[in-house]
Amino acid sequence: MSSSSPKVIHRKDPARIAIDWDDGHSTSYTAAELRRLCPCANCVSETTGRRMLDPSSVSDDLEQQDLRLVGNYAIALRFSDGHETGIFPFPYLRKNDPQGT
Ligand SMILES: [Zn+2]
Repeated sequence: MSSSSPKVIHRKDPARIAIDWDDGHSTSYTAAELRRLCPCANCVSETTGRRMLDPSSVSDDLEQQDLRLVGNYAIALRFSDGHETGIFPFPYLRKNDPQGT
């Protein structure tokens, strides 16, 4: 099984989060990209799995205002648009690498 645990999470830039993974891979997301990926029940229908958030409604200059670890499997983010219900599991982040893997 391939591991996808972050070794370091860089969040000095409010508009960007970068993750160095323990297998040497690095990924980088803008806050807007993460906001558009938000898997919470407000953004994705729990019954149909359909994304209800319109990606074009997310401003490209969105910032992340708070990042905290959820157990050892995910990060939770609060965005500058006030959205804070998203929990991003590490394998989900790795799978949705904007640069491709
Ligand atoms: Zn959400």
